[in-house]
Amino acid sequence: MDIQWYPGHMAKARRQVQQNLQMVDVVIELLDARIPASSRNPDINAILKDKPRLVVLNKSDLADPEITAVWLDYFTSKGLPAVAVDAHHGAGVKKMVALTERLAQPAIKKYMARGRLARLARCMVVGVPNVGKSMLINRLAGKKAARTGNRPGVTRGEQWIKLGGKLELLDTPGILWPKFEDPETAYKLAVTGAIKEQIYNPEEICTKLVQWLLDNAPDALAKRYKLRDLPENVWEVIEKIGVYRGFYLSGGRIDEYKTAVFIIKEFREGSLGKYSLELPLQ
Ligand code: GDP
Repeated sequence: MDIQWYPGHMAKARRQVQQNLQMVDVVIELLDARIPASSRNPDINAILKDKPRLVVLNKSDLADPEITAVWLDYFTSKGLPAVAVDAHHGAGVKKMVALTERLAQPAIKKYMARGRLARLARCMVVGVPNVGKSMLINRLAGKKAARTGNRPGVTRGEQWIKLGGKLELLDTPGILWPKFEDPETAYKLAVTGAIKEQIYNPEEICTKLVQWLLDNAPDALAKRYKLRDLPENVWEVIEKIGVYRGFYLSGGRIDEYKTAVFIIKEFREGSLGKYSLELPLQ
């Protein structure tokens, strides 16, 4: 992944989130709609405590809409308001802003009850790397406002982005770590693009992905790569896709590595369809 999470980094990132938390009324907890559990920080409840929170399922354009609806119900049933967005194209973002504004009202009312003048509500975005924090902030800012790159521990002069009449957003997102020690979670993070290629073995990830596609979406696989007789064996499928794409090594062997990277990329970008990789544990 982008950041090497050492215990020192994790403590520093957590401190930074906790510091910024004091300045805001609401936290937008950004998750990947395809893997809401795996893209969640394992200590999130302890970090955010009782701060009002909106769970936002991003990249909903890439997720199975029916499963996203199940997740939204799940979070709501746990007392966490939730909304699905697509920061890339803007769907759901207005609703997200309206919900955030509403969640901030009790804090603003409390503030005014102490005899102070009304102030704008403040919010911040937190989430694991690559969940779309910068893209969401940029979209809300209407320009390239969010800093790119994920470097925990780098604090600059924070800036606030005005969202409508009542709300301000901190331009610096809080970066949290995922549960990367669990292999199943690491697989889901890798296949959705939250972990960079340098850290994992694409062939390993791809075999797992192709098996999943064979089990869950064989027709999509066959159609996309024009595989008339879809083999049952994962490596045979990968070979056939390599042939279809013409990924040959010298000597005429299929370049399995290149094919694996290609299939993962296609899956991540939604070229094979909209898929969610997990359901809530009830
Ligand atoms: P950050 O590390 O959380 O700030 O993530 P970024 O904002 O850098 O986004 C990571 C990647 O996800 C980028 O390639 C974005 O283009 C992509 N991305 C972010 N949001 C969406 C979304 O809603 N839909 C799709 N399809 N891609 C998105």
